[in-house]
Amino acid sequence: MKFCFNIEPLLIMMQSILFILVTGLAFFFAFKSVKQIIKNIKLGKDEDLSDQPNIRLKTMLKVAFGQSKMTTRPVAALFHFIIYVGFILINIEVLEIIIDGITGSHRIFMPLLGGFYGFLIGFFEILGFLVILACFVFLYRRNIQKIKRFAGVEMNGWPLKDANYILLIEIVLMSALLIMNAADSDFQNKYSMPISSWLAPMFYGLSETTSHTIVNIAWWFHWIGILLFINYIPFSKHLHIFMAFPNTYYSKLDAVGKINNMESVTTEVKLMLDPSFTPPENYVSPEGFGVKDVTDLSWKNLMEAYSCTECGRCTSVCPANITGKLLSPRKVMMDTRDRLVELGNEKLKNGDDFHDGKSLHDKISSEELWACTTCNACVDICPINIRPVDIIMQMRQYLTMEQSAAPSELNGMMTNLENNSAPWQFSPTDRANWTQ
Ligand code: SF4
Ligand code: SF4
Repeated sequence: MKFCFNIEPLLIMMQSILFILVTGLAFFFAFKSVKQIIKNIKLGKDEDLSDQPNIRLKTMLKVAFGQSKMTTRPVAALFHFIIYVGFILINIEVLEIIIDGITGSHRIFMPLLGGFYGFLIGFFEILGFLVILACFVFLYRRNIQKIKRFAGVEMNGWPLKDANYILLIEIVLMSALLIMNAADSDFQNKYSMPISSWLAPMFYGLSETTSHTIVNIAWWFHWIGILLFINYIPFSKHLHIFMAFPNTYYSKLDAVGKINNMESVTTEVKLMLDPSFTPPENYVSPEGFGVKDVTDLSWKNLMEAYSCTECGRCTSVCPANITGKLLSPRKVMMDTRDRLVELGNEKLKNGDDFHDGKSLHDKISSEELWACTTCNACVDICPINIRPVDIIMQMRQYLTMEQSAAPSELNGMMTNLENNSAPWQFSPTDRANWTQ
């Protein structure tokens, strides 16, 4: 009796198992990183931003989904929009990859969608090609044209590399997609593709097995690339592609520039001066005033630090920075995130109650903090509604109230306020002297 054994179903099954294992592992690690980010954000103080959900939703749709604040720089806006749309729509193709990977099928949507499938993939190809083009334009702007807002002390080293890595990864991922389509002779015979048809002649004359192997390699390369990308994002400024949405939803809705009274100070002063004053229920005296470390900031401040795209728009309009002062609002956000990651990692190693004794002031100097004019130009221009000045003001409050380290010009003014009820050095009784 002749024993006949077809090995192909076994290979397909093994490939599916490998796909599930690799994908599961990659998602497990990505989930772990996301969990750590959420845990770090929760190190911040409570802040209630749950009011006016309709306005919040509209803000998110307009600013994050609609990219409304990007239009102030049209060239960057156009190319960013291409990459953004490419990122969202190409996920439909990723869905097919996942189903194919699990079931062992090949282009499962092709028989289901018929002619529309060709249209869809053709559209993705044009998008993929434009994404490659946009990435090259961004690489050029950063590395050859050296646009000023991409420079700065905070952008040396890793941040510059990070921006370049992401652009290169996107170019490689999109190229793998186009090569996969070009080498797929069955697919090419059925549809006329706008981009991969140009590349297809490179694979003419190859045996069926060789072209299948190339398609398979490109397919795996594309998918592994996506999995690596997913695991890289939590450590990159590209986290903003996800964070921009919750960050804009929880935008502060009060007027830009409004500085809230420090409730804790008001209550403490009343407690000292007014014997009849009763503090709010469950009131606990604050351990300190203002912000010493990231744990004194609110969760929203910390979420903003993780959301920052490092675009530098804020720094490019900051009057302090423009006039040569040390302050860069982008650096404030990046330092806050770096400090948060540092402390979060220490807590992970040594337990939740651990504190390494360092502070955010180790990264952001008082010279930077006091250079801020509180003009809010940075807040106004930020494409995802981040408020660096919020952090600056709270850190100043710490310097003033806990360290008595306000600049001498301010100390004089504050003494006058205390003694004369006005910023000037005159006694209140002399106020009307000018009429003489
Ligand atoms: S508020 Fe401060 S940090 Fe922001 S732009 Fe004005 S001076 Fe610069
Ligand atoms: S704070 Fe806003 S404007 Fe400034 S670098 Fe970050 S995302 Fe850009």
